[in-house]
Amino acid sequence: MRGVVMYAPGDVRVEERPDPRIEEPTDAIIRLTATCICGSDLWPYRGAEPVDHAPMGHEYVGVVEQIGPEVRTLKVGDFVVGSFWSSDNTCEICRDGYQAYCVHRTLMGLIGTQAEKARIPLADGTLVATPGMPEPDLIPSFLAASDVLGTGWFAAVAAEAGPGKTVAVVGDGAVGLCGVLAARELGAERIIAFSRHADRQALAREFGATDIVTERGEAGAARIKELTGGLGAHSVIEAVGTQEAMMQAIASTRPGGHVGFVGVSHDVAIPGDVLFGAGIHLHGGPAPVRRFLPELVRLIWDRAIDPGKVFDLVLPLDEAAEGYRAMDERRATKVMLSL
Ligand SMILES: [Zn+2]
Repeated sequence: MRGVVMYAPGDVRVEERPDPRIEEPTDAIIRLTATCICGSDLWPYRGAEPVDHAPMGHEYVGVVEQIGPEVRTLKVGDFVVGSFWSSDNTCEICRDGYQAYCVHRTLMGLIGTQAEKARIPLADGTLVATPGMPEPDLIPSFLAASDVLGTGWFAAVAAEAGPGKTVAVVGDGAVGLCGVLAARELGAERIIAFSRHADRQALAREFGATDIVTERGEAGAARIKELTGGLGAHSVIEAVGTQEAMMQAIASTRPGGHVGFVGVSHDVAIPGDVLFGAGIHLHGGPAPVRRFLPELVRLIWDRAIDPGKVFDLVLPLDEAAEGYRAMDERRATKVMLSL
């Protein structure tokens, strides 16, 4: 099969890789319908994380082609969505809704789903089947559910977005934009998106943002205070992962409020005195996307939400290298690779 391999920073190739096969009785093999490039794939691409001939990709939707003898809930031909961790969905951690920490988890990025096929471990627990074969125009939205929507949704839940709440969203990438969408679906009263890009501001508004703030850092937090009677937001989503973004999120939150942080942390260090003085709740980390997948699949199937709009460039898998370049050079927010 064809699959993406990152040889070294900046060097992405699509080449022949071994076809996956059933290794455990709980595995399934899927034929990918679409996959995509994640903001987190740019860290190794830019040399900020080590990489050496690594298969790439952890977002996926596709059709079940083969199942192991112990797979019970899926059948060949099902259209399925899964997340970037495989999980049994039955252990004590999974039952608490933290499938990203399943005691039997596997990181799908090690398998590499930017490929024609993929082996999915713990298929019964990992995958959620759609009610039927989706119309082609729904594919981008189901693909978004695999990571960016599920992650944005978790951030909004962790930040306790809901009725009567003012929610601020740090980060206007695909996850931040999906956080806006999630906050709206959870019933937030006011949603303030930080963004400096006209196209992303427009999508944020379409997804439910009521206000846009272009300032960053301390100035950005000051603007949130101004907009909230000097108090700060009840709920703040941090979807970047840098020091500036985390401090901006904390400073934008009112005492007693909640920060949901899902940007993959890169050298973030929160000074103890700032944390002590803020009087806020912090919750985040790798999103347990699987917790939300059944609901997200239903909302997308019913056409209640359209998160697929975060994909602003679609390329065939064989042009993955151009997709990485486009995201690296910020010519694209989120690139879908079609098969
Ligand atoms: Zn588990």
